Amino acid sequence: MTPTLLGIPWDASSSFQRGPALAPAAIRAALRSDSTNGWNEEPADARALLQDAGDLALPTDGPLPLEAITAGARALLETGAVPIFLGGDHAVTWPLVRAVRPRHERLTIFHLDAHPDLYDELDGRRDSHACPFARILEEGGANYLVQAGIRTLNAHQRDQARRFGVEMVTMRQGLEAMVTAARRLAGPVYLSVDLDALDPAFAPGLSHPEPGGLSTRELLTILQAIPKGRIVAADVVELNPMTDLRDLTARVAAKVIGEIVGRVG
Ligand code: MN
Ligand code: MN
Repeated sequence: MTPTLLGIPWDASSSFQRGPALAPAAIRAALRSDSTNGWNEEPADARALLQDAGDLALPTDGPLPLEAITAGARALLETGAVPIFLGGDHAVTWPLVRAVRPRHERLTIFHLDAHPDLYDELDGRRDSHACPFARILEEGGANYLVQAGIRTLNAHQRDQARRFGVEMVTMRQGLEAMVTAARRLAGPVYLSVDLDALDPAFAPGLSHPEPGGLSTRELLTILQAIPKGRIVAADVVELNPMTDLRDLTARVAAKVIGEIVGRVG
């Protein structure tokens, strides 16, 4: 099972700032930077293990191009790869899960984020990056959704979480609860990492920086608790190079991808 990158340069579903469409290029530059050697903490040479399928060609505006994203992801899955999708804003997870779901009898999604992204709609859009997990659960895109890092839960999204039977571990519940949730994940697992799960002190290059988040070390600890071999696809989304400082967040994204490669095994 070869971990393979596929860029999804889409940010027109963002509700506040554009920029994540530039993230795949920024993450690739960080992954190849001569400032580090690309080894993860397995330890294994993530840089050598990773293949790269390039970026999907997508429009820059309009409604979320569901069919184009699903078809591009499906083509990569058919090669037997374990895709690591590079967002893009978080709306892309909906069409990506559509490509993964038919390949598995059961699918669990493990979702790390400051936000539950369970809005029925936001600003009149049902394809907003605030809505992907509502869309996925409505159409049976996963049997089970586990969320961790959450710290912006409002009444509407609490109702949605109840309605869909979401297991939510908030920041307030602490690191150990999030590590336990990761350790208990039954496979196959689709992993979705919104980088704003991190505290903006560690990841400034975000459209929705939310203080009170994970440190980089805590995020790696949670990822390393996912049993090896369970991940069948992953995405890393919401990096905004327009707001990044000295490529810090792109480097964190590269580090996270290196550890995901270590869990694919
Ligand atoms: Mn998100
Ligand atoms: Mn978020």
